[in-house]
Amino acid sequence: RHRKFDSEDFLTAFLAANGPSDVYASAAYYLNPELEMDRKGWLGADLIFDVDADHVETPCKRLHDRWKCSDCGRVDFGAAPRACSKCGGQRLEQHREICEQCLQAAKAETRKLIDILMEDFGFDEMEMEVHFTGNRGYHTLIVSDRVHSLDQLARKEIVDYVCATGLRPELHNLTRGNRLRWELDHSASFGWSRRIARALEHFMLTADRSELSRIGISKAAIEEIMKKRRDLAAHPEKIDWRYVSGIGEKTWERIVQRAARLESSQIDTVVTTDVHRLVRLPGSLHGKTALKVQTLSIDELEDFDPRCDSVAFQDGEVALYVEQAERFRLGMGDYGPFRQESVVLPDAAAMFLLCQGKARVIGD
Ligand SMILES: [Zn+2]
Ligand SMILES: [Zn+2]
Repeated sequence: RHRKFDSEDFLTAFLAANGPSDVYASAAYYLNPELEMDRKGWLGADLIFDVDADHVETPCKRLHDRWKCSDCGRVDFGAAPRACSKCGGQRLEQHREICEQCLQAAKAETRKLIDILMEDFGFDEMEMEVHFTGNRGYHTLIVSDRVHSLDQLARKEIVDYVCATGLRPELHNLTRGNRLRWELDHSASFGWSRRIARALEHFMLTADRSELSRIGISKAAIEEIMKKRRDLAAHPEKIDWRYVSGIGEKTWERIVQRAARLESSQIDTVVTTDVHRLVRLPGSLHGKTALKVQTLSIDELEDFDPRCDSVAFQDGEVALYVEQAERFRLGMGDYGPFRQESVVLPDAAAMFLLCQGKARVIGD
């Protein structure tokens, strides 16, 4: 930290000479970047959003994440609880895997975020940058004079909007009452009104019986919803989702909350409100994967395959001793699973394991 480079050549020379495992750049702008924090002279900062697979709820986490209690040695799947379920100890080690389903989920959250930023805030594609972070997520940056001077509170307001925090349905063309009721005229509404209407309709059209029941909808009301769906094919003009008898106010609220959650983006809120944030430098490698931190256009994001398109090492092979590794895909190949064995792997796959501390080079 506290370094500045007058040109890309100086930066490249510095990186070549020092070979750091991770490289970060400031998203904030300073009068004197090389001075201590309180003397730098803050000029402004890009607006950053971080979607990290760690923060996105996915069902696969229960299958591949593990925690271990340092006190009693208990091991269990999923996210670590606040205290060990066996001994009550609090020294829990969380072990996370990087899975493709999680990466897909992070991408989907990023797409929702971009949609909100463009549709609701009116940011232009030219003002936006999307970075694959090289491991488990995406950064979305707004690089524009329009956001530079925003302080922490203003950024918090934007976070709340993106996350639908404190959203009040009655302010969005959604009328309280003892019946499910909302405005279906998508074209007339805007922002969260439109998002909720869209998600509610999607929910009513696609949720299966167990989902409808879980959210608290009675058997009779579920039957009515099913009948409406059947009638929809024959008489689309006659279907009015606003009236489903038997859905009370409390249930209605849960449905709206669920709709809002589906439409909001699960960002890491701390990152956006930090006006001194460092972000990984595009073009550098991530120290835990050896994958490239990569700048993407919004169009490129759609088909971007992080495990293939971000591979930095293309040639060569390395002989390794692998302690333990689950099966993984990288570039054009699938590798593993490995259990305490010697293998010869392409450079990219070898670096991927070495960076995670799962292997060592034979002969070292
Ligand atoms: Zn324990
Ligand atoms: Zn996963």
